[in-house]
Amino acid sequence: MKRKPKKRGKRALRPETLVRDYLRQRVRTALSKETLLEDYEAHHLRHHAQRSRATSNWLTTLTHPCEAYGIFARVVPPKMRRPIGLRLALTFAEGKDQQSRFELVMRQMGYKVERAEEQLSLPEYEIVARRDFLLSKTSTTRRYVEFKSMSPWLFQKVKTIASFQRGFLKKYYRQVVGLMALDKRKDYWIVCKDRSSGFLKVFEFRWGKKERQVWAGMLARALRINKHYQRFVERDLKALAKNPNLEIVPEVPRRTKLCDKKFCTGCEFRNICDPWQRRKD
Ligand code: SF4
Repeated sequence: MKRKPKKRGKRALRPETLVRDYLRQRVRTALSKETLLEDYEAHHLRHHAQRSRATSNWLTTLTHPCEAYGIFARVVPPKMRRPIGLRLALTFAEGKDQQSRFELVMRQMGYKVERAEEQLSLPEYEIVARRDFLLSKTSTTRRYVEFKSMSPWLFQKVKTIASFQRGFLKKYYRQVVGLMALDKRKDYWIVCKDRSSGFLKVFEFRWGKKERQVWAGMLARALRINKHYQRFVERDLKALAKNPNLEIVPEVPRRTKLCDKKFCTGCEFRNICDPWQRRKD
């Protein structure tokens, strides 16, 4: 007589199975060094990826030594730009972290940190900027502060106000001039912090004849960029509205290009601008 095949039901969970599966799961999800580094880098690259064209002239682009850079920032869509490098993305993040840490320490010391990251603007020139913060202590007036986190090398280069008239530091000087104008202040502080040792240096800038001239130059540049942007809106954006797949490579006047290896090598618009080619013709 044939035996009936036994019906296979679900087996009861055994303690050994539970322990084995638990251990397997642990092994599979153990965090590796590679995963951590990959995630950390991807996070910073994502965070600093440009999402849209600038609708105004950011003060920081006006302080750039190249005028073409300011024009490209208004007209080049993000997908045409060179992606930001990891080193730069990490430097930006480090600067922000240092600033938050500084603000926290100030509050712990009993100082008042106010109106941080407030947006400033000058609509007739389409200029926008962000102030770092205002700083005060009980019974003192507020100081307007621009915070800069620096490498030990750069930190030892800043000794006096005159240091901000040389090389890379000129950019910071122009930025403070712009902030003084937008914030309607006759004085402004730059607080420099050595990100390695934690030491601070504070410099007080005052509005004078030279600052007025520098600001006039920045306003004139903003007007030139706006004019170029208007042309772009009227011509290229209309064409793009008709055919969104059109690949328009924005052009800027050659005279506005800096063509300096030091700045062009890392520039996010280098592939569009092609500074070396233009220099030869
Ligand atoms: S590649 Fe050089 S010239 Fe062109 S926008 Fe950038 S900095 Fe200016």
